[in-house]
Amino acid sequence: MRIGVVHETAAGERRVALIPQEVDGLRKAGHEVLVETGAGVAAGFPDAAYAERGAVIASATDVLGAEVVLFVRAPGSDPTLADALLAWLRPGQVTVGLADPLGAPAAAAALATAGITSFALDLLPRITRAQAMDVLSSQATLAGYKAALLAASRLNKIFPMLTTAAGTLPPARALVIGAGVAGLQAIATCKRLGAVVSAYDVRPAAREQAESVGATFVDLGLDAADAETTGGYAAALGEDFYRRQREALGKVVAASDIVITTAQVQGVRAPILVTAEMVHAMAPGSVVVDLAAAQGGNCELSEPDTEVDVDGVTLLAPTNLPATVPAHASRLYAKNLTNFLKLLIVDGAVRLDLDDPIIADTLVTHDGEVVAPRVRERLG
Ligand code: NAD
Repeated sequence: MRIGVVHETAAGERRVALIPQEVDGLRKAGHEVLVETGAGVAAGFPDAAYAERGAVIASATDVLGAEVVLFVRAPGSDPTLADALLAWLRPGQVTVGLADPLGAPAAAAALATAGITSFALDLLPRITRAQAMDVLSSQATLAGYKAALLAASRLNKIFPMLTTAAGTLPPARALVIGAGVAGLQAIATCKRLGAVVSAYDVRPAAREQAESVGATFVDLGLDAADAETTGGYAAALGEDFYRRQREALGKVVAASDIVITTAQVQGVRAPILVTAEMVHAMAPGSVVVDLAAAQGGNCELSEPDTEVDVDGVTLLAPTNLPATVPAHASRLYAKNLTNFLKLLIVDGAVRLDLDDPIIADTLVTHDGEVVAPRVRERLG
């Protein structure tokens, strides 16, 4: 099959869906790989590196004419893409990438109308077999790491305890809210930098995981037994629960130098867990990094990709931290993606095995229809 790799167009996007090392495996499987001119440059992979591995460097038109087109940010996830892309794609083509079909169902509907078979990797089920394809996890790991570094570089203190002839500096206190993939990496990184780390998550299972990477778990005394969906994602818990959470979190936030928030619920706005009042109660020079900014943010005062100063507290709300480490982000993404392709393409043809939950859950559009039930619901 002809597999195309686009040059990403979203603002600030520096990742690429396939890196040169992954070209080998696809070619061995009998595929022709077309890479758009300059697609990997921002991630540190020049055209020549792809060409050396046998990929064909091609125009956007040729890449978008491939039978399978690979994206980091497919239509939906990249709001600038839909119209331009639909002009080029033809019925029967297959697209694979992050597509945010729950947040942008209209883009999915447009792909369906155009006759595209599209897969959204953001809908992968959280089952053991899907772990090697789980782009959300691989990218969240990098985001958590970078969030800790951002906090360390902006805090008006150092992280570790330091005993000097001029006295002893106490360690910085970090609080990580949401101890999932990004949160656990943020905890581990803050800990390695020397901070004293606390963590909180609504899922009871997160306690042991947070403790295993060095955090003290904050017990808010709230019962959240229904905090996890059967798909392995956090469930929405209702405004009353979130209000009680905010009340209980107030003191912990005020006592922290760094607050990193990562709490997300798939397909809905992220819960507000840090209010304006809570930020005002933090000491000047403290830092909040809101990793849920792309889903509306966990902090009431977050402005996506904008630095906000609240009485001396720095509030950062980056929406795409993986793109700030594009070489490693692309490497992990490309490995996840090629693992997915091994399942999807069998004996040189796309195999829609809807008995396989990995294929069934990620398939969003096919044969002119939006087929993903949750996306259909959103379209009404
Ligand atoms: P996520 O990005 O959707 O959410 C981040 C974290 O925020 C989660 O831990 C969630 O419980 C938490 N959260 C949501 N609402 C909250 C609230 N109101 N207050 C506090 N915390 C809240 O989730 P994620 O990080 O991608 O993954 C969550 C879990 O799923 C992790 O334990 C991870 O290990 C597991 N996981 C399993 C697989 C697999 O088995 N294949 C794959 C990926 C992740």
